[in-house]
Amino acid sequence: MANKRFLAHMTWPEVKAIDKSKALAVLPVGATEQHGHHLPLYTDTIISSGVLERAMDRLPEVAPAYLLPPITISKSNEHRGFPGTIWVGAKTLYDMLFEIGRSVHESGFRKLCFFNGHGGNVGVLHSVTRDIRDEFGMTTFFGSASSYVNGVDLPPSVDSREKDYGIHASFTETALVKALEPELVKDELAKPCFPDYPTTGIGLTGKVYAQWKTEDWSSTGVFGDPTGVTDEIAAEYLELAVEGTVKFLQDMIDFEYAKPPTEDGL
Ligand SMILES: [Zn+2]
Repeated sequence: MANKRFLAHMTWPEVKAIDKSKALAVLPVGATEQHGHHLPLYTDTIISSGVLERAMDRLPEVAPAYLLPPITISKSNEHRGFPGTIWVGAKTLYDMLFEIGRSVHESGFRKLCFFNGHGGNVGVLHSVTRDIRDEFGMTTFFGSASSYVNGVDLPPSVDSREKDYGIHASFTETALVKALEPELVKDELAKPCFPDYPTTGIGLTGKVYAQWKTEDWSSTGVFGDPTGVTDEIAAEYLELAVEGTVKFLQDMIDFEYAKPPTEDGL
């Protein structure tokens, strides 16, 4: 069924006719990478695309937001060594996103968001959104669906370390995939895994960040506690993610840079 916000379902004259003064183009950035024994390789793509599509459907009819086809393979080299992890390096992802930015700009858009589902992409997203802004003068953004769910009170049955260390294939991702594609979640294989992080301040949370690969910390691929996700919790998490994303889309449509103070003000 044609989706009126999905750019790839439109014709080029229809794209040409869009009023671009505030129009926002949004690219879901997913991944194809290991997510433990219980979640599919496509987890980050399912979450970024699924949440975004639902949020776009809830926007007011007049809101000028357009969905681009997703990136489904991204920078997942930290998950190498787990069969099924298909990845490209940082330079390839950077080039791909930069050139997508260029062609979105050539199509007339002035606002672009990368809606990310995979933490390993964040460094590249920081650089490329700034460079697209610098090179083409576009207003650029990036964000993620799970940011609207992180920090929510967890059920008492969940390991308390989940709050700080549940970063991959853990409670949040399990809940969101369960809500979006329930038949792809293998509940019976969900097992907690909390790597023995150092307490010296060097590591995932200290002031000095030790760079890592999944195989340094986890043999199953899980970082966190993915157990105890009920259908109710899954639905609640999806609702939080979708509602947060609706607001984020509207905020980006309305966003304008404030004028800097004049030099006379010094
Ligand atoms: Zn993930």
